[in-house]
Amino acid sequence: MSFGKNKTIVVTGAGGFIGGSLVAALRKQGHTAIRAVDVKPFPHWYQRFDDVENLSLDLNLKENCDTVTRGASEVYNLAANMGGMGFIEHNKALCMLSVLINTHMLQAAVKHGVQRFFYSSSACVYNGDKQKTFEAPSLKEEDAYPALAEDGYGWEKLFSERMCRHFREDFGLETRVARFHNVYGPWGTWYGGREKAPAAICRKVVEAKLAGKHQIEIWGSGEQTRSFMFIDDCIKGIDLIFRSGIMEPINLGSSEAVTINQLVDIVEDIAGIKLARKYDLNAPKGVNGRNSDNTLIQRYLHWEPDTTLRAGLEKTYAWIHDQYLARERGEAGVVRDDNLHEDKVLQ
Ligand code: NAD
Repeated sequence: MSFGKNKTIVVTGAGGFIGGSLVAALRKQGHTAIRAVDVKPFPHWYQRFDDVENLSLDLNLKENCDTVTRGASEVYNLAANMGGMGFIEHNKALCMLSVLINTHMLQAAVKHGVQRFFYSSSACVYNGDKQKTFEAPSLKEEDAYPALAEDGYGWEKLFSERMCRHFREDFGLETRVARFHNVYGPWGTWYGGREKAPAAICRKVVEAKLAGKHQIEIWGSGEQTRSFMFIDDCIKGIDLIFRSGIMEPINLGSSEAVTINQLVDIVEDIAGIKLARKYDLNAPKGVNGRNSDNTLIQRYLHWEPDTTLRAGLEKTYAWIHDQYLARERGEAGVVRDDNLHEDKVLQ
């Protein structure tokens, strides 16, 4: 399956972490007609490129989805209200409202004859009962049912991925759905409340190191297990899945599971520091254990995300270290997360 390099490609959520990195990758591949869309005002976009069409529009609104899909042949729908556990546990309604984005984008895509549509789902769709042990249960695609998704955010993702299926079956729109498992890397949110564990831990270690502190606070017991996928693998996986014939939602995640304590060990090692750990057992911590079962992606693509956590964290730590210093000095180019969405969505 190959589309021409001059067909219009829409990336939503382009002002955020994965969307911005996807636009960067599409440009590198030589695509010349990219339409990047995000609700945030331009100065708040994590990455922005002058040679693509940039639009600051709220995609909760149907008319805006109509505008952005006009003349498009491919859509990557990455826009959503999301964040780490601290954010999704306290903003369930806001997370569920992202259903408006996907619904209106699907309708507009059909209306304008879009050839292919990508939807970014999440490991949060998996049944909570299968994630109670700390032994990092590997979740197969079928483990999403019977449904008992993460309350709020996960239910929206499960509903929206199913709607993609029915738009394909009923209206012939070629939809592709990947379930991302914790993505991290440069250009991701690293402070402000929406950051996820790898970025939060890198930031706390940078902070401790620069301030000469010797303690780090960890959410939960530190025994929770997760896998973390480096951004480059995520972008490669999106591309492979998008162009494949894979109809059903598929895991896109690393299968290298670690405990949060092991994640901290790696970051401390990179930073050359050892910190006393203070565990906050009342903080949001999510499920006890989760890993990506990559049998299906291996079968289809003979590939799975393979950047080691150590290699990915080295790059991420260095980037957050530089961002931290740039913010301290009031320099330009710092990723800003000022939680602008809440006001917008409730207007
Ligand atoms: P992000 O928050 O950095 O990017 C999402 C972007 O969507 C933001 O820039 C936000 O402003 C934009 N957005 C929100 N509401 C909008 C609206 N109404 N109209 C237009 N734009 C809007 O998050 P990300 O990590 O880049 O995530 C991208 C996608 O991947 C999301 O759908 C997310 O749910 C999914 N996902 C991410 C992860 C992860 O670990 N990062 C894991 C699973 C799934």
